[in-house]
Amino acid sequence: MGQITLNKVDRAYGKLKVLHDINLDIPDGEFTVLVGPSGCGKSTLLRLIAGLDKPTSGEIIIDGKDVTKASAADRGLAMVFQSYALYPHMTVRQNLAFGLENIRMPKSEIESRIQEAARMLEIGPYLDRRPGQLSGGQKQRVAIGRAVVRNPTAFLLDEPLSNLDAELRITMRAELSGLHERLTTTMVYVTHDQVEAMTLADRIVVMRAGRIEQIGKPLDLFHRPANLFVAGFIGAPR
Ligand code: ADP
Ligand code: MG
Repeated sequence: MGQITLNKVDRAYGKLKVLHDINLDIPDGEFTVLVGPSGCGKSTLLRLIAGLDKPTSGEIIIDGKDVTKASAADRGLAMVFQSYALYPHMTVRQNLAFGLENIRMPKSEIESRIQEAARMLEIGPYLDRRPGQLSGGQKQRVAIGRAVVRNPTAFLLDEPLSNLDAELRITMRAELSGLHERLTTTMVYVTHDQVEAMTLADRIVVMRAGRIEQIGKPLDLFHRPANLFVAGFIGAPR
């Protein structure tokens, strides 16, 4: 399961309205990409789904359950950040195990999940290193691995590849696609990169200034953009 619905979600910070009337239905297993220019509210929307922030009004439903007021820990989701957010003083293995020890998972189960994620993401050789001894791409693989071991109902990824160089971004893009195919878990992926959105998404959500401009399959947006903004953002020659 991993079906996510947002009904009439608004978010304001004081007088600043950051999200307006967001209605979004993400089916279980879909790779959804939220795309739009910097500052349009993508991260805020993802944080609301994650439970790291609460809407000013509206509701969030996950697998039929109203989680609007539920904490992040109670939502069963895993977030991956652009900045990796690894604990620098812990080894890769300890970083992967961290959340799991808190929920009293047996050691053998933790170890088998770590081994499986390590194989999937090719980080086996680095399990005893600390993040400071890893390259950017390796760190991001560990950050994704930390999400994988929690076996979440959905992955929420906020510009996970933005800190990587162009070549590595393309490699990691393909790996993320492969990961989604293998796990068939819902993924909600934020980017400001149109090419990334077009290549990864089952469906793209185009945002501008806190509103959803259009939702559709990549090629539908490309061939039938709802307005000039979407046309310019998705279809711009590169
Ligand atoms: P994006 O991820 O699309 O770049 P964000 O969701 O980070 O956009 O931000 C959307 C808007 O909300 C921006 O104008 C940003 O300055 C504002 N904003 C985000 N978080 C806060 C906050 N905690 N307090 C005040 N304003 C915020
Ligand atoms: Mg952002």
